[in-house]
Amino acid sequence: KKYVYLFKEGNAEMKAILGGKGANLAEMTNIGLPVPPGLTVSTEACTVFYENDKNLTDEIKEQIDAALLHLEEQTGKKFGDQDNPLLVSVRSGAKFSMPGMMDTILNLGLNDQTVLTLAEKSNNSRFAYDSYRRFIQMFGDVVLEIEKYKFEGVLDRFKEDNGYVDDTQLTVENLKDIVEEFKAIVKKERRIDFPQDPKEQLMYAINAVFMSWNNPRAITYRNLNEIPHDIGTAVNVQSMVFGNMGDDCGTGVAFTRNPSTGEKKLFGEFLINAQGEDVVAGIRTPKSIDELSEIMPEIYKQFEDITQLLEKHYRDMQDVEFTIEQGKLYMLQTRSGKRTVHAALRAATEMVDEGLITKVEAIQRIEPKQLDQLLHPNFDPETMKAATPLAQGLPASPGAATGRVYFNAEDVAKAVADGEKAILVRRETSPEDIEGMIAAEGILTSRGGMTSHAAVVARGMGKCCVAGCEMAKVDEELKLFIIGDVRIAEGDYISLDGSTGKVYKGSIKTVKPELSGNFGILMNWADEVRRMKVRTNADTPREAQTALDFGAEGIGLCRTEHMFFDEERIPVVRRMILSTSTEQRVQALDLLMPMQKGDFKGLYKIMKEKPVTVRLLDPPLHEFLPTEEKDIVALAKDFDMQVDELKAVIHSLQEINPMLGHRGCRLAVTYPEIAAMQTRAIMEAAIEVSKEENCNIIPEIMIPLIGIQAELEYVKKVVVETAEKVKEENNSSLEYSVGTMIEIPRATLIADEIAKEAEFFSFGTNDLTQMTYGFSRDDAGKFISEYREKDVLPEDPFQSIDQEGVGKLVALGVKLGRTTNPDLKIGVCGEHGGDPKSIEFFHKTGLSYVSCSPYRVPIARLAAAQAVL
Ligand code: ADP
Ligand code: MG
Ligand code: MG
Repeated sequence: KKYVYLFKEGNAEMKAILGGKGANLAEMTNIGLPVPPGLTVSTEACTVFYENDKNLTDEIKEQIDAALLHLEEQTGKKFGDQDNPLLVSVRSGAKFSMPGMMDTILNLGLNDQTVLTLAEKSNNSRFAYDSYRRFIQMFGDVVLEIEKYKFEGVLDRFKEDNGYVDDTQLTVENLKDIVEEFKAIVKKERRIDFPQDPKEQLMYAINAVFMSWNNPRAITYRNLNEIPHDIGTAVNVQSMVFGNMGDDCGTGVAFTRNPSTGEKKLFGEFLINAQGEDVVAGIRTPKSIDELSEIMPEIYKQFEDITQLLEKHYRDMQDVEFTIEQGKLYMLQTRSGKRTVHAALRAATEMVDEGLITKVEAIQRIEPKQLDQLLHPNFDPETMKAATPLAQGLPASPGAATGRVYFNAEDVAKAVADGEKAILVRRETSPEDIEGMIAAEGILTSRGGMTSHAAVVARGMGKCCVAGCEMAKVDEELKLFIIGDVRIAEGDYISLDGSTGKVYKGSIKTVKPELSGNFGILMNWADEVRRMKVRTNADTPREAQTALDFGAEGIGLCRTEHMFFDEERIPVVRRMILSTSTEQRVQALDLLMPMQKGDFKGLYKIMKEKPVTVRLLDPPLHEFLPTEEKDIVALAKDFDMQVDELKAVIHSLQEINPMLGHRGCRLAVTYPEIAAMQTRAIMEAAIEVSKEENCNIIPEIMIPLIGIQAELEYVKKVVVETAEKVKEENNSSLEYSVGTMIEIPRATLIADEIAKEAEFFSFGTNDLTQMTYGFSRDDAGKFISEYREKDVLPEDPFQSIDQEGVGKLVALGVKLGRTTNPDLKIGVCGEHGGDPKSIEFFHKTGLSYVSCSPYRVPIARLAAAQAVL
């Protein structure tokens, strides 16, 4: 089996075997670019290395030897040769770019002999000894794992003793002394003489690269980026070229287009007389690539031609590394360039105009999740540098926020009314906190996961939220929170990054991004391609408008409970709950009806004929009752009740497992008058707005939490009877449809029965995930992160749908549902409706639409298009 490839034997398609770096070096070699020759030890060799107890097999060693012979022939140089020594770089490179792996080793092959030859041949002893000391330093650090500071300390001492500021001021004599000291460090730390045999140096280095595949940093990185652990890394061994031989030498990095704006213009930096990482290490200030055209016009021209050729060849923006040795240009790396979403959008649309790529490719070039960056404020990068992260929570809702902390909704509202910027900090939020959440710049909670109340509501509002920050000990009574030994009290400034989950002390400036024309262009292309519709979850006209602006085609989920929490209404809602007879309850509901109707009219006025699915009341009633003593006392007084009597009622409503309790359609079965009131509000609103706006609204009424077909029959009867009555009263022929949420596992199993009664299904994948796993979604955050670390769960099933299990239920529900009702419209309205990976799955499963929070609508539009391609 072939484990070792010369650069000229590979190509760009071979990334899995040669790694990204190796495959592209091969490709550049084969299209005739000046690449120093080299060889790649394959990723498959890495796998064999681990199977063989972390040793290279003889077979692989022999192939390396044979390839080295080729390399020596190609370069006319030889390992350890007295006259013409071969020096190489050893560079790791997996299929996916992976920081955290072993650093590159340069100048391998130098020893006490070859350093003399190098000095003589280059007529530059300083260069030779500088290269040697760099080699020992890199080898010592990455192969022998001697702490970096031990070497750096020596350099610093030399500079200090001689009053130098810059490494370049070190003299040949200094460097010779440094080399000796470095060798002594190796001897002392590892009890070996610094290896002098180049072959031995190389074998050590290759081993170290393979070993670094499983260092903790690399493992963490792979976990974070969902890169498999078994694909291994390749090792590239490449003959050295030197950018540090004098003033006709240099090294640099460049992008074919500007990676932050996308502008089509070379963007990059270089240093004269420098090697390797000097440019990025920040030791000397690099020059802009433009200046190369003045310093070395011919090289610049050649470089420009090569980069343009590369861009045409790869049909994408490239990020290249190059070195100039004595007036000759060498290409050392190319890969597709990482870019901001702004740059990605501009480059993609401009490349279509240039005829470089097709629209379909442009759509595929944008990472849907990246769009988040566009839609939310970010931290100002300059101010960010000085910021200290305090703690890590869950990145629950993207964006950046800064402000003074307050510990309850009222205080936030007060502060904001006084013109302050506020952050709401709570252990967890509940619907009572809505006003504070609206007023706050951002929300921090110490409990709850990605689908906790705070997270869901914040995403809906497009507000920054860090949830489940368990490190923060929040005391809402004392109005402070503690992280480690840092105490943050009411009025102190903190900053939140909802995209990373980081919490910072102090205030950091935020900047609001602007939507460019390129965004609109690309979104339109995506709309031309996708099959699934994209709706939004919206409860208020404002959310509905935001979602419309982002291109939503309807409302897939309007939750009615938030409407009940309004300050004015809560007393009426409580009266309704505390009613002891149906008459009393109906009286209270009669008061609520016009308010609800007003809510729906507000939504219909904005949505017009676009579909709006309204879900009947879902949460258990006790959520609407007060929990704190003083509030209970006040309420009792209001209602003319004994405090004890009220407490008894509250107690009777309390449940041990509210998520599995008296909620959803179960409320409608026990209190049909609530469902009737809501239906009336919906129907009257639709009839009135249809007239006012001269349009034809078709309400969609959705019954939640169905698990038994007769439940649906029962509630549907109430809904239909009420709706027909309203139509009769108004002499209206308005159409409407009644459907259900599929969110209880049992419902998926009998979906064929349910579909006989339901005109549409909407998968509530939050509840479905919760109930399929038996994970409480409000508590699971605590152990899911640990499950992920221990590889028990590959990812959080509340964020990306578990295709294997929960997804199977969804697919079954779709299949069964359509057997009895072929025209069944089927959507999804859980958090997964905005997750690109889940969207791809829903497309494949044959759903008609996804519904997600307003700020995720563009992401869903793009992901739904990519799912088709
Ligand atoms: P990374 O993956 O961290 O970018 P590389 O393997 O690309 O690491 O190496 C880093 C730098 O080392 C390169 O940008 C280049 O400047 C230098 N380098 C690597 N190989 C050679 C070589 N054969 N000759 C000269 N410089 C090299
Ligand atoms: Mg590189
Ligand atoms: Mg639900």
